[in-house]
Amino acid sequence: MSAPPPTSTVAEPAALPVRPELVGEVPYGAPQLDVPVCLNVNENPYPPSEAVVADIAAAVADAARSMNRYPERDALALRADLAAYLGHGLTGDQVWAANGSNEVMTHVLQAFGGPGRSVATFTPTYSMYPEYARNTHTGWLTVPRAADFTIDVAAAVAAVKRLQPDVVLLTSPNNPTGTAVSLDTVAAVCAVAPGVVVVDEAYHEFARTGTPSALELLPDHPRLAVSRTMSKAFAFAGGRLGYLAASAAFVDALRVVRLPYHLSAVTQAVARVALAHAEEMLAAVDRLRTARDDLARDLVARGLAVADSDANFLLFGRFADRHAVWQGLLDRGVLIREVGPDGWLRVSAGTPAEMATFIDALDRVLQMNRVLQVSPVLQVNPVLQVTR
Ligand code: PMP
Repeated sequence: MSAPPPTSTVAEPAALPVRPELVGEVPYGAPQLDVPVCLNVNENPYPPSEAVVADIAAAVADAARSMNRYPERDALALRADLAAYLGHGLTGDQVWAANGSNEVMTHVLQAFGGPGRSVATFTPTYSMYPEYARNTHTGWLTVPRAADFTIDVAAAVAAVKRLQPDVVLLTSPNNPTGTAVSLDTVAAVCAVAPGVVVVDEAYHEFARTGTPSALELLPDHPRLAVSRTMSKAFAFAGGRLGYLAASAAFVDALRVVRLPYHLSAVTQAVARVALAHAEEMLAAVDRLRTARDDLARDLVARGLAVADSDANFLLFGRFADRHAVWQGLLDRGVLIREVGPDGWLRVSAGTPAEMATFIDALDRVLQMNRVLQVSPVLQVNPVLQVTR
């Protein structure tokens, strides 16, 4: 990883006539720092095997042979492979794919949001969502989660009825809290939502055994979509491939707004290789779930509050000065994420060696001085705003 570029903000209008809502904004992204232990962006820490690397290299070479041509515009073969991977009787025309689920979600808002329309979500949640809304001129509405970060079904239904959003975004498991959303809640929201409902299941594979996917609800809900990514459990963040399952009509709406040839020939080819090795790519999921649960126990043993997580990360706190804790860890070569409600920090599940280094560094930081002492306030404030 390279050193971070200097942070630049968008220039004042006098200098450059940018859209007013972009003035003073900085590009989104967690710091990319060259440190020994990176536990800040919820990646799978296990790289592909040499056998997978060789197959990826061969697929890239093959794609290179026709690089003078545009790629297959509708990514039909890849979408058929993704449908087969998801199961649930899905076919390629019910699956959409793009450069990460960030792009998938942008397509959703381009097709179903836009000027005069709105998207509603339950906060604290993924900090990119308001940026998709801003970029697509979609109104941004938030509904606070309960104190334990769950979504109260009656409150969710009432909020959707009141706000009448064109898009409802439910994140399960949620980032940065790790909280899963029940299918009953998804179904209840679908029943009252005037527009489309998207369940972002970026971390679904890490959920505890028996946690159902909203894919189960698709046959009965034509305005529901479920988005997934290969960036997390699938250990393929560098490949940039996100996808979504919905009705064929929903997918057709996304096809209208995508840029032509949005998925390069290389992306399509390497994603198909990864899918062909799905079992191996997902092999570390159980280990990471165990690492998450062991780490939760270690944090609780230190008197810290830990949000119940079905993802490959934990939100823990609360700290009187969370930035000082984050910095103290970084000074010891461990990068985590300063995100979520005030006083909380997020750490990704890693290898046993990474977890040991993290806990050792945390112990040292917590011993340092009173400023870093754990805040006695362990309750979450439900009115805290969207995570940034
Ligand atoms: N959704 C959630 C909840 C996420 O946490 C992330 C990444 N952190 C994404 C979507 C986007 O992932 P990607 O674009 O890599 O698929």
